[in-house]
Amino acid sequence: MIKAHGYAVKNSKDQLSPFQFERRELKVHDILIEILYCGVCHSDIHQARNEWSSSNYPMVPGHEIVGRVKQIGSKVNKFKVGDLIGVGCMVDSCRACECCHEGVEQFCEKGASFTYNSFEQDQKTPTYGGYSDFIVVDEKFSLKIAPSLDLARVAPLLCAGITTYSPLRQWNVSKGQKVGVVGLGGLGHMAIKFAHSFGAHVTLFTTSPSKRTDALKLGADEVLISKDLETMAKHNKSFDFILDTVSGNHDINLYLQLLKRKGVMVLVGVPTEPAQLNVGNLIFAQRKVSGSLIGGVAETQEMLDYCAKHNILCDIEQIPIQKINEAYERMLKSDVKYRFVIDMSSLKK
Ligand code: NAP
Ligand code: ZN
Ligand code: ZN
Repeated sequence: MIKAHGYAVKNSKDQLSPFQFERRELKVHDILIEILYCGVCHSDIHQARNEWSSSNYPMVPGHEIVGRVKQIGSKVNKFKVGDLIGVGCMVDSCRACECCHEGVEQFCEKGASFTYNSFEQDQKTPTYGGYSDFIVVDEKFSLKIAPSLDLARVAPLLCAGITTYSPLRQWNVSKGQKVGVVGLGGLGHMAIKFAHSFGAHVTLFTTSPSKRTDALKLGADEVLISKDLETMAKHNKSFDFILDTVSGNHDINLYLQLLKRKGVMVLVGVPTEPAQLNVGNLIFAQRKVSGSLIGGVAETQEMLDYCAKHNILCDIEQIPIQKINEAYERMLKSDVKYRFVIDMSSLKK
């Protein structure tokens, strides 16, 4: 076994603290990765605190991983030692079901192996995430990273990037459309960048008036404060598409009313409480509500290549791992600009 160090929570009330554990020995298609950076996703908080009632402990969170290949199994041909490499939210899937064949491994019918708080395909070995020095991942679930990029700013693309890129692509967001993004955090800021890059007119809905200037710099054309109901109502029936990235409980009906006839709202945020849906908002204008979960491996690579080509990177605040508990508290106050990224060299200090 390979010794690894990281930060873990031991139960839902616990703070993250140093943790030693083991990674598996390399199988023929495996890669040993030295983790350089790991982004901090709100899903890490939801799961560390068992907010989705699906947590296993000890848990090493982290699924926005950029690192360097340290060692490869005998049959690895996609990567060589020294290459840069990315790992996102998944590390394996059954590879045989319809979803796996379609390249949407996140929906694997037997259950994908997520990067942490999940099990390998043997259904019994727990997975541990990226708040750690090393990880072992099969090459099929490893992504290529262009060496010219600022690696710390690439890391959050592995979740925040793909989770927003995928639905915007799926629903063909493009020039001439009026698109709304709800919430300006890790996902929201990438949604603005992608929707702007795809040519849409982008409106941010935020609860934080102080984020207005930043939103405009990130590519938004307009910022609406969601508590200002009078101004919100002036936009009724005007949006083609709205992407909701909010982590906390909130009223989705407020946004449904803003969609045109046949407009689409896609939810990617996962608040703890079920959303209340006023069905009249769907019925009287043939509107649609959908959801989206990260993206498949091929689409994640496509997104990374798109970002490299168009120089799209995340806006981040780099932190040493020792500040992770503080970062969680700040995210819970919506005080994040716009993704915390852990510099993993701090683990050695
Ligand atoms: P984040 O960085 O903490 O940002 C969330 C933003 O939502 C906040 O900055 C705030 O923006 C807004 N917000 C928070 N609580 C709110 C409330 N009660 N009412 C209204 N607005 C609120 O979080 P994130 O990492 O972007 O993740 C967002 C959500 O997506 C989480 O639930 C996460 O688990 C989920 N997620 C889903 C997927 C997927 O595949 N579907 C993947 C990754 C993450 P303002 O200050 O602008 O209002
Ligand atoms: Zn995530
Ligand atoms: Zn499958």
